[in-house]
Amino acid sequence: MTGLVYKSTGSWYTVKTDLGETYECRIKGKFRIKDIKSTNPIAVGDYVDFELETDNNQVSGIIHNIHERTNYIVRKSVNLSKQTHIIAANIDQVFLMITINNPPTLTSFIDRFLVTTNAYSIKTILLFNKIDTYDEEILSEVKYLAHVYRKIGYECIAVSAKTGKNIDKVKSLMHDKVNMFSGHSGVGKSTLINAIEPGLNIKTKEISTLHMQGQHTTTFAEMFDLSFGAKIIDTPGIKGFGVVDMDKEEVGDYFPEFFKLKQDCKFNNCLHVQEPHCAVKKALDNDEIAFSRYRSYLQILEGEDEHYRTDNWEK
Ligand code: GDP
Ligand code: ZN
Repeated sequence: MTGLVYKSTGSWYTVKTDLGETYECRIKGKFRIKDIKSTNPIAVGDYVDFELETDNNQVSGIIHNIHERTNYIVRKSVNLSKQTHIIAANIDQVFLMITINNPPTLTSFIDRFLVTTNAYSIKTILLFNKIDTYDEEILSEVKYLAHVYRKIGYECIAVSAKTGKNIDKVKSLMHDKVNMFSGHSGVGKSTLINAIEPGLNIKTKEISTLHMQGQHTTTFAEMFDLSFGAKIIDTPGIKGFGVVDMDKEEVGDYFPEFFKLKQDCKFNNCLHVQEPHCAVKKALDNDEIAFSRYRSYLQILEGEDEHYRTDNWEK
């Protein structure tokens, strides 16, 4: 049988088949996936093959195969070993929720986030929330940012989780997909999810409160089916994405507007900083590349963006 992992609590996995039957499954024996050193071999979002077994009239599943992943997100293990923990796999898209103020979401944070999701091959959509609270000046900032990010290929939607503005649009994009929501604490993730699916009891808030009190609870991601034919993965306490380790030469590849120009740089290993005849610097001088994007790029190159690391933002 084949099914999708909805929940994992260490040794047990909740797996749902196409027919909607749910089984509690375990892994038998050693189970290693090549190339991935992680503390957990299987994560929420994985497709697995399993066989049923009956023990004392209790039916459970034994997982013997995992399907190839289209992507997965990781978090570094708490112990300082090189091992990672896979949070979730096969994510179709992530909605990055942004507020201009209350709380502020800086462009350096947005850009680092996009580099990360790009490196993970996860499509990202930007949602500018709390649009009901903005005056003319802040609205023009939203418009400017939406222009910057649309130009480089990201869909941007202004929403209000409170008034419901453009929530139907978000829902239609979510249809038939595995979705995640991310963004700083307080941007309105819980409110939006509640507007999308009233009654869905996602515990994001309680857990982040626990987190702030320094109580360490082991939290696991979980997938939910929404009534309108979409899936959502909730990752309590881990609202960010683990940072991908990358070489300096690689960073520019995750800025789509830089990547497009790279072939026109004189040097094929151009870092777009000091090199002569750099197509990216030229585009910057011609205002074809937003200065904030270039600034974020330099910050990532120089490792100055630690403060905005997406896995640190809850601290
Ligand atoms: P989370 O930490 O991202 O889950 O944020 P919450 O959903 O808890 O929202 C934080 C605060 O912002 C709450 O007081 C919400 O009522 C408020 N909020 C969320 N979305 C909106 C919105 O679109 N408009 C307004 N005015 N307030 C919002
Ligand atoms: Zn260059």
